[in-house]
Amino acid sequence: MLNSREMDEHTNIQENLSQVRNRIAAAARRGGRSPDDVRLVAVTKTHPPEVAAAAFEAGLTDLGENRVGEAADKIPAVQELISPAEGPRWHMVGHLQRRKAGPAIELFDLIHSLDSVRLAERINRLIEREESDLVVPVLMQVNVSGERSKYGFDLPPSASPKDRADFWQAVEQILALPHLRPQGLMTMAPLVTDPERTRPVFYALRELRDELRRNFPQADWHELSMGMTDDFEVAIEEGATIVRIGRAIFGSRTTCQV
Ligand SMILES: *Cc1c(COP(=O)(O)O)cnc(C)c1O
Repeated sequence: MLNSREMDEHTNIQENLSQVRNRIAAAARRGGRSPDDVRLVAVTKTHPPEVAAAAFEAGLTDLGENRVGEAADKIPAVQELISPAEGPRWHMVGHLQRRKAGPAIELFDLIHSLDSVRLAERINRLIEREESDLVVPVLMQVNVSGERSKYGFDLPPSASPKDRADFWQAVEQILALPHLRPQGLMTMAPLVTDPERTRPVFYALRELRDELRRNFPQADWHELSMGMTDDFEVAIEEGATIVRIGRAIFGSRTTCQV
């Protein structure tokens, strides 16, 4: 049963979603792109399975979570609520601890937050141990803003040639792992009041993606996962192929979580 707050959110999802879709389309046009080139991942963290199921039924085929524990409870519960033939694609958008790599590869269709070679090696080893031929699609999370942030490969604007060489080496090590398939990059822009200030960050991620395409054409670097509720329009103008949106669709989160 939904309580009254959740009921309100439920009825608002349709309306919020159509506004978000309009804003996505307008931003795509401003960037000279097709709205179809931008995938919307609805971030359902902190919301109950009923809300995630309602989102799926409202046409949101891609749902995102940021914690493995929460997702491990929620994903099967959502599947119970919707018709069994089809389900959403699940995206892991939050930091992934190495010890949670096993359940994460079972639960998620795309991991946006590959942020170390050690995590990549752990994922690869787990699959090798199972003698499975699974190949996990991943995005490399990169911190291009220069702000101190806990997660992501660090590649600030001030990166030295050595920092850059280290990053290229990490890419090479990850590309050498047979059970991972990098598909692009993810970043989180710093929290700022003026979304315009995030533009250089998104631009830098796209430049980095283009450089990866030139240097490592053996992988498909298509995806740019960037943009959240406060800055998705700027991200789309700068080339986002995936936006990760929670609050603009589901309202603000009552549980304190970033
Ligand atoms: C919560 C979260 C989002 C969505 O944030 P909103 O501001 O609610 O749109 C996107 N990406 C990550 C990594 C998140 O943790």
